Amino acid sequence: MRQVRLNTHLSKSVIAILSLLSIRLRVVAAALIPVTFVTAVAFQAHAQEAPPKVSVSFGIDTTLTDVGKVVGLVRAYLAKPDSSARSRGLWSTATDFDRRVGDLTMDAYQGFPATIVGVAPDGPGDSLYVVRVLYARGDSAGGRISPLALQRLFAVRESGAPFGFRLSGALPRLTHGWERRTKGRVTFWYAPGQHPDSAKISHTSSFVDSVAVLFHVPPPNHIDMYVTRSMEEAQRAIGLDFFPEASADRGRGGRALFGGIVLAGNPALGEGYVHEVAHVILGPTFNGRSRLFNEGVATWLGGSRGRTTQEMYTRLRQIQTARPALTLGQVLSNAIPDAQAEEMTDAFYATGALIVDSVYRRGGIEGLRSLAQLNGDPKVLLAALPTQLGLSGSDEAALDRWWHAQAVRVSNVR
Ligand SMILES: [Zn+2]
Repeated sequence: MRQVRLNTHLSKSVIAILSLLSIRLRVVAAALIPVTFVTAVAFQAHAQEAPPKVSVSFGIDTTLTDVGKVVGLVRAYLAKPDSSARSRGLWSTATDFDRRVGDLTMDAYQGFPATIVGVAPDGPGDSLYVVRVLYARGDSAGGRISPLALQRLFAVRESGAPFGFRLSGALPRLTHGWERRTKGRVTFWYAPGQHPDSAKISHTSSFVDSVAVLFHVPPPNHIDMYVTRSMEEAQRAIGLDFFPEASADRGRGGRALFGGIVLAGNPALGEGYVHEVAHVILGPTFNGRSRLFNEGVATWLGGSRGRTTQEMYTRLRQIQTARPALTLGQVLSNAIPDAQAEEMTDAFYATGALIVDSVYRRGGIEGLRSLAQLNGDPKVLLAALPTQLGLSGSDEAALDRWWHAQAVRVSNVR
């Protein structure tokens, strides 16, 4: 059940919130942000950390045979929540989804204590149980609780299973009744209240093939895109009833997940959320070592947060104009003085796109392949970028002059 997070737009505001709550950041930080914490963001399996303790909440009677078995199963799984659960007979292999994707809630495993807060039959029979687990840490005085995730898993009765049940992912069950459309390599799933837009369906479907051709990489076998009214609704569909979101996303983010799954939680974009589609295509085939490359490519191909690529360049130029002393080094380090997460992320993504665009114009896909090899340390990037961009000067001042001139050129804003 290895889950790979290709991308997230969660950002610094979440970090701030989490810090306030005195939560250890670790993987959360890596997942949520910017650069400094992140060495190689995209398409790397998280180092999951099993909960140090699993408790059972009041109201759950483990003397009931099935409840006791399900609790035993959840405890066994949470001791080592990874893909080996299939071979250990703890995770179902009965469906294609559970064999191929499995647990999409790996973000919950970050070393927080777990409490099983619900085990109840799902529906009238007794062959399927829904299990809810809260991951949270309390302070020593017991006054303040820092919740990380509220997770929803399913336990299916299967003969021969060590506990009489096996775990199974939430997504297929929770989206079973959703309207869907398939075009080319993409199946679009619509949360209740969302409706297909055939122009956007066509655009995104052909985007997949175009990107694969452009980068000379095999297209994904299949992509499933979940179109929802909010990121919260999309997270719930994968089994995260609660998980922190970045305020800067205004609840309308997206994510690319392992298994060709794209969450599109911005109804204004709907199926047109191609930034995440770019991550899901290139993550397995053309993955960069830096966040600058991975986000730069996705923004270059698909814009960001509802802005087109061109609008992102304009936004960058606006930020540069409003902050005449701003340097490329500050943007790459996510250290824009007094900037909020939204502005910092916009500047970073647009700068990434600008660099990707210039390297591509100069060296094509081979140029991008070389850019992708650079690690995300701002010092490394600043030292290597002049060569990548073909600048004569190799100092930071030359790079800054290029960055300003280029933003003026591509944004058409002076
Ligand atoms: Zn992205």
